[in-house]
This record gives sequence, structure tokens and C-alpha cells, in this order.
Amino acid sequence: THFGFKTVPEESKESLVKNVFNSVASSYDVMNDAMSMGVHRLWKDDFVSSLKPGRKGPMKCIDLAGGTGDVALRILDHARENYADRETTVDVVDINAEMLKEGYKRFKKTMYHNTPQIAFIESNAQALEQFPSDTYDLYTIAFGIRNCTSIPDVLKEAYRVLKPGGTFACLEFSKVNNPLLNMLYDQYSFSVIPIMGTILAGDRESYQYLVESIRRFPSQPDFAKMIQDAGFATGGNFEGKGGAWRDLWGGIACIHTGVKV
Ligand code: SAM
Repeated sequence: THFGFKTVPEESKESLVKNVFNSVASSYDVMNDAMSMGVHRLWKDDFVSSLKPGRKGPMKCIDLAGGTGDVALRILDHARENYADRETTVDVVDINAEMLKEGYKRFKKTMYHNTPQIAFIESNAQALEQFPSDTYDLYTIAFGIRNCTSIPDVLKEAYRVLKPGGTFACLEFSKVNNPLLNMLYDQYSFSVIPIMGTILAGDRESYQYLVESIRRFPSQPDFAKMIQDAGFATGGNFEGKGGAWRDLWGGIACIHTGVKV
């Protein structure tokens, strides 16, 4: 198998992505910690707490490309710990059953197991036919949208399943604007990460693919434009500060939000 994705035709990208995450599912959480040196936890904490789930009462949430449930767990914990809310629900949706299985196993050890607060559902973010329109208050997608073949299709479906007034929120790797930081980051991701992938997960190609997919993802303003094109309002909705996005660590990651109007 060769994951030099430039040679991979678009139509096979989906099965490619499926294979990538199949082969890394069991080591995914360990690798996430190793590669980002634990920083992905801080970003996810920041992402979820800035959305304040539960503040205005229980919410119906859907977490796309939810993988092993990192974001879902934070949403439920945030609502419970800050607003004593045990009625907020999260549907964790992922294209890959292996990732969902890991998530299910993990939730078994939490108080949410066997409650209506959490569900794991296999589906493609680009075609959420099994989910009715105007259903959710909050749609989250963390480190998932760049793996999708068609970002506009993902956004279109996000818009459809959200209630009017509902929030779309995306956490994703993005573009680093500082040239020095960008140079260091390039060094790190193109040399260190594939080596870590080889040593820790025995899988260099999957991690090489992940690094390359980050490089291909649109810049902050370009992605914001795509969110607007899908119909979302992106101005002035982020913690009242305005603006469609907020950079984390100089743009290594970024949070984009939009509201369904
Ligand atoms: N959100 C989780 C997190 O932040 O830890 C998982 C992120 S993981 C890097 C990306 C996930 O996207 C994988 O679980 C993968 O199976 C999923 N994925 C890729 N393409 C998808 C698609 N078209 N629809 C739904 N999920 C997809």
C-alpha cells in the first residue's frame, strides 16, 4: 500500500481514509498524545468550553468524525460539571466502525454508558440521510473534516441537520502564519511524526498521509468562505468577539464557527 495521496484518485479517497483509520484505531489515542505531545487535549478542552454546552439548557449535539469520543465526552462533562445538566445528548458519528468501537469501550467506564446521553452511529459526514433535518442545537467536528472528500457536502449536511439558530463548530489543523514557527512545524511534522508512527504504531504511511492532508486543507479565510457559502452566518458569533475563526497556537489548529440562519 502506498499512501502518496497525490496519486490516489478522488473516488478512492474514502476507502483510503477508512483504511488509514482502521489500521490506527487501537493505537489512535496513544498516537494522538505522542504526536501532539498532549496538546490536542488542551485544544479540545478549549474548543468545547468555548461552546459552553448546557449553558442555555440541555442540548442535542452531534459530533461528526467523532472517532473515540474525545469531544463527546468533553461536551457531556462540561454540561454536567458547569450546569448540572444530565440531559444534553451527543450522537457520535463516524465513518469507521473500528473507531466507534474504541469509543464505545471507553464510554463503558463512564457514567454516561447505557444512558440516552450518548450514542455511536456509523455514517458518512457527507451523506447523513439517516438524520432528519432541523434536529441538532450543536454540530461539532474535530480533526475530521480535512479527511472528507468533499468539504462542501459535509457543510451542506451540517447545515441541514442543525436547527435554525444551531451552531456549527469545527476544530482542525490549519495554516501557521508566522514563518519561523511554520518552519519548525514543517520539520516536526514531516520528519518526526512519520518516524513516531513507525515506532509506536508500526505504520508510517498512515501518519504520512495525515501530515499531507493537513497541508492540503484550505487556509482560515478560505475555509470561512466555504462555511458562509453553505449558508452559515459567521460574523460576530464567536463568544461575542466577532470573526469566523480563532487560531490556536499560531494557527497550528483553528476553531471555525457558524450559525444556521
Ligand atoms: N474527532 C476525533 C478526535 O478529535 O479525536 C477523531 C479525529 S480522527 C483524526 C478523524 C476521524 O474522521 C476518524 O475517526 C475517521 O474515521 C473519521 N472520518 C474520516 N472521513 C469521514 C467521513 N467522510 N465521515 C465521517 N467520519 C469520517
